[in-house]
Amino acid sequence: MRYAVTALTSLSLLLAGASAYAHDASPDVSDEALHISSARYIANEGVMAQSGHVKILFDPFQVTGFGTYQEPSAADLSALMAGQGEFEGVDAVFISHAHRDHFSAPQMIGYMQAQASVHLIAPQQALEMMQTDPSWDAALMARMSILDMDYGEAPQNIALSGIEATAVRIAHAGWPAQHRKVVQNMVYRITLGEGDEAVTLMHMGDADPQAVHYVPHIDHWDARDTDTAFPPYWFLTSAQGQAILRGIKVKRSIGVHVPINVPEDLAASHQDYFSKLGETRDLLKGPSHE
Ligand SMILES: [Zn+2]
Ligand SMILES: [Zn+2]
Repeated sequence: MRYAVTALTSLSLLLAGASAYAHDASPDVSDEALHISSARYIANEGVMAQSGHVKILFDPFQVTGFGTYQEPSAADLSALMAGQGEFEGVDAVFISHAHRDHFSAPQMIGYMQAQASVHLIAPQQALEMMQTDPSWDAALMARMSILDMDYGEAPQNIALSGIEATAVRIAHAGWPAQHRKVVQNMVYRITLGEGDEAVTLMHMGDADPQAVHYVPHIDHWDARDTDTAFPPYWFLTSAQGQAILRGIKVKRSIGVHVPINVPEDLAASHQDYFSKLGETRDLLKGPSHE
């Protein structure tokens, strides 16, 4: 059973150090849930999500998985670049941060050149990597929304047709180490579709699982429930991480960034996660709990 959609934990309580750990049974939403959207795993934190005719990618390219994390298959990479098969008609790519296991500047440039209608949403640090790449093409800027956000800055809305998206910079795991502090790691909350069919997703990059980063943005989290989040797996293997997910109004999680050798505590956790290249999930839109 995944988390209860009720029992929303107060972030203030978390900050005060309360364990605030609810064990409510999850209501069985499967009968009422609508199978209108799906997610497909690419590798590491690379995910394609689609709802209706809208299709988006998160962190689809990488330089390396460092031998620890999975890399996109050759078949996926060529289909992606060609915009064929499952990867036909991608509307937008969201980059969480410019680390090499999440982002490849030359592949991103090549992809945008090959797919002339794709829009890119990425932090400034990813833009800078592309601008110093020999294949850089300044004309691509017209299709980019670049986020140059500081830690603690208010969430930003991203203007895209057919996609409602916001970004907030949340510290990279390992905070407050200096080399982690400087990373522009973005947490995206994205609503695809409209009205009853809308489904809201969240991609968190390598977010740090400490409540102090989330509390200042409580109005942002309260503004909308997230149907499905893709947190890095370390949120799922810690009580603190799970409590943060509840506090930021996440109803269901599918863990990503799972090492090739799946950690034992994750495998034993009964949490859902992506670990097999190409695997898919329906993105369930639960009944309203308003
Ligand atoms: Zn990272
Ligand atoms: Zn990473």
